[in-house]
Amino acid sequence: MEEINVATNLHSVWRRIGAAEQLANRHSGSVSLLAVSKTKPDRYIRAAWDAGQRAFGENYAQEAEEKARRLGDLAIEWHFIGPIQSNKTRGLAQTMTWVHSIDRLKIAQRLNDQRPEVLPPLNLCLQVKLSDEPNKSGIIPSEVPTLAEQIVKLPNLRLRGLMAIPAATSDYQEQRKAFKQLQTLLFELQKKFSEVDTLSMGMSGDLEAAVAEGSTLVRVGTDIFGAR
Ligand SMILES: *Cc1c(COP(=O)(O)O)cnc(C)c1O
Repeated sequence: MEEINVATNLHSVWRRIGAAEQLANRHSGSVSLLAVSKTKPDRYIRAAWDAGQRAFGENYAQEAEEKARRLGDLAIEWHFIGPIQSNKTRGLAQTMTWVHSIDRLKIAQRLNDQRPEVLPPLNLCLQVKLSDEPNKSGIIPSEVPTLAEQIVKLPNLRLRGLMAIPAATSDYQEQRKAFKQLQTLLFELQKKFSEVDTLSMGMSGDLEAAVAEGSTLVRVGTDIFGAR
């Protein structure tokens, strides 16, 4: 693997976020950065930690769990952002601070039941499949209210917001259109659940558009840790 300078890359992503906040007339610091470290070695995570990064995201349950345990000497805030099989929930409930990829009640119930008593409630986002999204995971927008209603009843979980992965496009206006859909859904959700405060959207190639449409958390992998 080609060695990259994680600290330099992190600083440049922080600068991009700051510039995007300013352009959107948003407060400095209103968008947080999740460093997506999937498939990358522990030493890259340690380098990012040393540079000041505290929140890290993983996509594969076993890798997430193993990294969280191996890097247990650091007070990392771990976020799980990948698809979840029901036989993988226990390890996630034990090690994660956030799960962004909730698309069915059964998974949320298992996470709730398996969350250790000694830990604070697990923060959750519902993953939404937007209209132009060809793939797989995520509920459709009309399913958001019902699933939210069910999840807020579970005591060991805390519903925080919505996550989406829009179809990749280099067209800035197209990017904004997709992110605006998610922002509108969040506003709707907030009318019923005022504690919901998180819009998890924006990656290496589209974080500026996401910040312009109200993202509160961008998930960046490639531009920090290099191509996968
Ligand atoms: C891999 C991944 C990211 C990071 O994507 P980059 O394009 O590498 O920045 C963000 N979100 C999710 C859900 C991912 O799977």
